[in-house]
Amino acid sequence: MTVATATYQNYIGGEWVDSSDGGTFEVKDPANGELLAVFPESTKEDVDRAVKAARAAFDKWRLMPAPHRGEILFKAAEIMIERKEDLAREMTREMGKVLAETRGDVQEAIDMLYYMGGEGRRLFGEVVPSELPDKMALSTRLPVGVVGAITPWNFPIAIPSWKLAPALICGNTVVFKPAEDTPILSLRLVEILLEAGLPKGVVNMVFGHGPTGAAIVEHPDVDLVTFTGSTDTGKKITKGAAEDLKRVSLELGGKNVIIVHEDADLDLAVEGIVWSAFGTSGQRCTAASRVVIHEKVYDEVARRVVEAAEQMKLGHGLEDDTDLGPVINQRQLDKIASFREIGEADGATLLTGGERATDGDLADGFFYKPTVWGDVNPKARIAQEEIFGPVTALIKVGSFEEAIAVANDTSYGLSSSIFTKDVNLAFKAMRDLYTGITYINAGTTGAEIQLPFGGTKGTGNGHRDAGTAALDVYTEWKALYIDFSGKIQKAQIDELKFDA
Ligand code: ADP
Repeated sequence: MTVATATYQNYIGGEWVDSSDGGTFEVKDPANGELLAVFPESTKEDVDRAVKAARAAFDKWRLMPAPHRGEILFKAAEIMIERKEDLAREMTREMGKVLAETRGDVQEAIDMLYYMGGEGRRLFGEVVPSELPDKMALSTRLPVGVVGAITPWNFPIAIPSWKLAPALICGNTVVFKPAEDTPILSLRLVEILLEAGLPKGVVNMVFGHGPTGAAIVEHPDVDLVTFTGSTDTGKKITKGAAEDLKRVSLELGGKNVIIVHEDADLDLAVEGIVWSAFGTSGQRCTAASRVVIHEKVYDEVARRVVEAAEQMKLGHGLEDDTDLGPVINQRQLDKIASFREIGEADGATLLTGGERATDGDLADGFFYKPTVWGDVNPKARIAQEEIFGPVTALIKVGSFEEAIAVANDTSYGLSSSIFTKDVNLAFKAMRDLYTGITYINAGTTGAEIQLPFGGTKGTGNGHRDAGTAALDVYTEWKALYIDFSGKIQKAQIDELKFDA
């Protein structure tokens, strides 16, 4: 398919503009290298202008009643529904994953816009009794201010919507830097918000690579940085934001695990493993890159997962029979490929895959065969490090307790799952798996937007995207005390006397 190459601009203070030094970068289809678009490479000066525009729009936006802000999000959701198919197709070209999954990505953005639009009529605080007479005590939320949103490429419209929709409903203004690999779908989200009636300056978009993101993080007038991406970048952001004590919300890596207990329904388990390990070519933060299997069913599960992996068809995500698209870029492909030697050095057995797929047209794209490692030592690097590709490590254990211990033995804590028919073990797993998300009799992927999304340990810094938990990221709590006694009353000091 030939797509006309488009040239796009930044969006700052309601104007479409080039970068201050005219720099640009290209966006290509990872399945075939086709040039799709050219975007501005934004400078520090562009970021500064964007932050100033966001600051200038802040008062007007925070003072717009939240239900009206919500109506803009509802309208955006409706526009997105009309364009869902076009957006999904454009996303497949830009990012590589298959159409069914890009449709899901757009749907997630629609869901988030509706959900956060509804928060416009909630944004609940608390009303609690005061300990003093004729006094009222309640809590309410304030927007944080100017939000810097920095997003990755694996969910090109869903993750930006997870950041922008709650930021906006809470009354913040935004400087948004989408991933350099997938700026097109981010641009579409902002275009849709504008069509839905978002006022000028409320969202400002600067395209570019890491240094553009760093300029946002270091800008003194940004109040909060919300980031999803790699652990290394998350650490840099934390350091960069520390100087001004900026608020920082991070969603980082994962080394997610599926446990298959000896009593599991193996049909379900194998389907769950294959979908969670290889869907989106393993490039989800919740991808199942470890499978911990009871020794009584290990051989059977391993055989069936390998068989399923070998049947997967790689190809362009727009083709109906494609199961697996490309990975995002050369750097990522090289990183995934480097784990072949690492796995061998750690003594694991390569059961299938472990190499690029280069048959025919595949040679033009970044395709990697679905890869399964067997007999993996839980301490091996392939069982500990995030690979972010279609690669999974099978680990054999002798008991439920060992499975839980192995599952928890990683520096990350995003998603976990267990396949078992034993209700007691399921509840123990829910309690003992130390991750932000746990599934029972399902794989590790498939989060819904009305619950908190995020993880423990190295997966983040304690904050959550999505659900009402996200509102705590994008607001500051304010406690209000209203005294209607006509006296100066002193909490904890005044002694109250009541008639018998
Ligand atoms: P990946 O490319 O593996 O998803 P990154 O963490 O490098 O992970 O990228 C996620 C987002 O962070 C992208 O938008 C990228 O441009 C941005 N980014 C990269 N380096 C920095 C940095 N030092 N400061 C701020 N943002 C950055």
